Amino acid sequence: MLEIFMDFSFQVEHVMSSHGFVFHHGTVTEGTLKCEQVQMSVNEAHRLACARNHTATHLLNAALRKILPYTMQRSSYVGPEHLRLGFSARRILSTEQVKEIESFVKSCIEQKLKVKRLEMPFDALLDNPKAVVLRGEEYPEIVSVIAVECNRTDGELISLEPCCGTHVHNTADLLDFTVIPSKSFGGATKSLSAVTGMQVSIVRRNSEFLEKEIFQLKTEVDETLQKINVPLDAISAHLKKVKSLTKECHLSNDAPLLKLEEYKDILGEMKLKLNDVINSLSKTDANSVCSISDVPVSPSFRTSEEVLNFFHANNTSPTDDEYKYKFNKEGVIPITAGICAVIENDKITDSVECGLRCQLVLDKTNFYAEGDDQTGDEGVISC
Ligand SMILES: [Zn+2]
Repeated sequence: MLEIFMDFSFQVEHVMSSHGFVFHHGTVTEGTLKCEQVQMSVNEAHRLACARNHTATHLLNAALRKILPYTMQRSSYVGPEHLRLGFSARRILSTEQVKEIESFVKSCIEQKLKVKRLEMPFDALLDNPKAVVLRGEEYPEIVSVIAVECNRTDGELISLEPCCGTHVHNTADLLDFTVIPSKSFGGATKSLSAVTGMQVSIVRRNSEFLEKEIFQLKTEVDETLQKINVPLDAISAHLKKVKSLTKECHLSNDAPLLKLEEYKDILGEMKLKLNDVINSLSKTDANSVCSISDVPVSPSFRTSEEVLNFFHANNTSPTDDEYKYKFNKEGVIPITAGICAVIENDKITDSVECGLRCQLVLDKTNFYAEGDDQTGDEGVISC
């Protein structure tokens, strides 16, 4: 007598085949196995998702061969969440090529094309120019093939591949399709990843959040740029945000690839505009410095009238700073210089007590003064 099904339950986690035997790996989740017969129940959602992605892989392969006629399939992964196809190509696909691929697969979905499993002699398969046969793979004399038919009776097949995988019966069952970012392998192998069915809405939703942030920033940037006196700190803050969103676009792997490319373009334009404003603002600053005669060289240092009068009265020559250029392997060559003035709080003085700040002017120096794009030297003056 057979035990009833409910007495025993086994969760199949993965299934493998060896020497013609199929091994179901998993965990007993209920009862003990005493029965001689069991009911097999496949997770349909998982299976359908794999079937959609497998048919999509064949369509992707057909699309790719239209764009790159000499490409070869290198690898393929079909899972319930996504699919990935590795193929030979020198360069990564351009945005235009990805658009072409996506619209080809979508048009197959819209045309509701029949997907059929057929048995045919391998030689007959080789005669068909549409057939995708993997180099180095061994095929039996009679092969199981998946054919995606064209709607027109006189039309060629859309795709013909030897395959034992799971497939939908009609391309309409794919529901939707979109290419997502894929890490390309090095060298001459590139890869394309994509999603179908419900997974498409999930990845679209992922991109919507990013899109909202980008368009919000675009509005803010446009508003800032319309102001007569553009605040530099606002520009810098916008630029920082542009950089962080661009990084997010580059790192994302679960949003539609074409959407991400569109966002990168928008962010790229924003970056250009913001950098233009920064450049023009810094030019304005430079001009204003030139036009105002009494602006000190270093904003933190202004020579007092009293000090300048002192130099004038004493016929003090400008400091000879040629020595700053003289350096060897050990560094700047040390020199001995004479003191021309000791200045404390903008006033000339004879001596300064330990612990207080002062300035020294010497007849010569080997120190670099602060310049436009270089900070001044640091060091010790001693005796
Ligand atoms: Zn296949």
